[in-house]
Amino acid sequence: MSKKKYDVVVIGAGPGGYVAAIRCAQLGMSVACVDEWLNHQGKPSLGGTCLNVGCIPSKALLETSHLYALAGHDFADHGINIKSLKADIDAMMARKDKVVFELTQGIDGLFKTNKIKLTHGHARLAPGKIVNVSDRGSCDVREELQAEYIIVAAGSSPVRLERAPIMDGYVFDSAGALEFDSVPKTLGVIGAGAIGLELGSVWSRLGSEVVLLEAMDSFLPAADKQISRAAFRSFQQQGLDIRLNARLLSTAVKQRKVHVTYEDTRGAQQVKFDRLIVAVGRKPNSDLLFGDEMQIEIDEREYIHVNDYCETSVPGIYAIGDIVRGPMLAHKASEEGVMVAERIAGQKSRVNYDLIPSVIYTHPEVAWVGATEQACNAAGIPVKTGVFPLAASGRARAMGDTDGLVKIVAHEQTDRILGFHVCASQASEIIAQAVIAMEMGASAEDLALTVFAHPTLSESVHEAALSVHKRAIHIKN
Ligand code: NAD
Repeated sequence: MSKKKYDVVVIGAGPGGYVAAIRCAQLGMSVACVDEWLNHQGKPSLGGTCLNVGCIPSKALLETSHLYALAGHDFADHGINIKSLKADIDAMMARKDKVVFELTQGIDGLFKTNKIKLTHGHARLAPGKIVNVSDRGSCDVREELQAEYIIVAAGSSPVRLERAPIMDGYVFDSAGALEFDSVPKTLGVIGAGAIGLELGSVWSRLGSEVVLLEAMDSFLPAADKQISRAAFRSFQQQGLDIRLNARLLSTAVKQRKVHVTYEDTRGAQQVKFDRLIVAVGRKPNSDLLFGDEMQIEIDEREYIHVNDYCETSVPGIYAIGDIVRGPMLAHKASEEGVMVAERIAGQKSRVNYDLIPSVIYTHPEVAWVGATEQACNAAGIPVKTGVFPLAASGRARAMGDTDGLVKIVAHEQTDRILGFHVCASQASEIIAQAVIAMEMGASAEDLALTVFAHPTLSESVHEAALSVHKRAIHIKN
C-alpha cells in the first residue's frame, strides 16, 4: 500500500479537528482529516459530538421546547390566547435533524473549499507519524497516511455507570435523550451538570415531570454562589426537582419503569421513572488511538498529556479539545485548533485559558468567565462586587423575563474585572461582552463609562459595573 504524504493529518472532525484542519489549509499546508462518525442513517457526518449529538441538536430542542413552554404558560400574559397547544415530537425531531444535517454538510463544503482531503474511518497512530485508517472494529488497514505533523482531536464519550447501564427504551445517555419519540410522563436524570440541566429542561418544558439526582451537596459548584443560588431557585420554580446529595445505588427495569435507588442524608430512597438519562460527565477517547510502541504520555484520567501549546510528549504530535486537560467545551477545542495550526506555521499563538466562558443553556441561561467571588476570597485577593437584578431592567420587564442577575467581581484596589457572572435570559450573549472587556484588561469603571443602548438586557452589565462603585441608577446601592 502506498503512503499518502501530507503536511498535517488531523484525527477527528469535531469543532477542534475541523477548525484545526481549515486553519492549517488557510496557512498553505496540505491537510488530510480522518473521521469515523456515522449518523443514524449510517452515513459519515462531520462535526463530531458538538454538531451531531451535542451543542447543536440540544440547542435546537431547547429552542423548540422554550417556544412551546412560552406558548403554554406565558403567551396569555401578552394577550395571546391559543386554544389548543400540541407538541408534535416527530416534527420537532425532524427540524432538529435538518439543522444538524445542514451544518454538517456546511463543514463538508468548507473542507472542499479548503482542499482538505477527508477520509472516513478509524485512525490509529503508528511510529514515524503514520496514521493507519481502518473500518471501525476491524484491524485491516485500508489506507496509510504520513505527515510532518499530527493533530489528535478525537473528542470524548459519555461516562457510563455500572449502576445504570444504558438500556434500549429506558436508560439513555445524552445522545439517546435527543431522540425520544414521545414525552415521558416521568423522567429521571442522573447528574445535574450542564447536560443534565439542559436535557432535563427540554423534556420538562414539553411536559415531563423531571427529577435530577445530583451526587454533590452543592449545585453548580464551579459557578459563583450567588448565581448558582439564583439558578437553583429559578429551575425549582419551573418544576425541575433537583435533589442534591443523592448518590445512586442501583437501577432496575421492572414493569416498564426504571426503578432507581439512591441514598441521601435521610438514607436509601426509591423512585421510579418512565425513562432515565445518565449525564455524569464525559471521558476522553484516548483508547484505540495508539499502539504500545507510541511514546505518547496519557494520564491516569485518560487525558493525553500536553504542554501549554497542546504538544504531546512526542514532538510534532499535538492533541486538542476534549481529549486533553481543561474544560470540555467546543469553543476551547476550536481555539486550541487555531493555536496549534498557527504554531506549526511558526507563529507564536496561544490560548488564554483564564478567559474561556462557560454557558449552560437553560432558561434563564447561566454563564460566567474568570474568578468567582468565593475563589478570590479563598486566594486572599481583595475584591469588590457589583450586582444588578434583571427585575430592575426595563427591557427584561417588557420581555416578561426578569429572573436572574448580573454580577461583576473587580479587584478592590486596581478595579480590574476578575470575574463576570450572569444568570439571565440571553446570558450566553451577554457573557461575550465580559470576555471582550476582560481580554482588553478593562476595569469596572471602563464598563461604567461605556454607553449601552436602552432598553437592552445589556444595560444590566452597565448597571452592575456602576454598582461596583455603589452608583447604580436603577437599584438602591
Ligand atoms: P458535568 O461534569 O458537567 O456534570 C455531571 C454531574 O453529574 C456532576 O455534577 C456530578 O457531580 C454528577 N454525578 C457524577 N456521578 C454521579 C452519580 N453517580 N450520581 C449522581 N450524580 C453524579 O458533566 P455533563 O453535564 O455530563 O457534561 C459533560 C461535559 O460536556 C462537561 O465537561 C460539560 O462542560 C460539557 N458540556 C457543556 C455544555 C455547555 O457548555 N452548555 C453542554 C453539554 C456538555
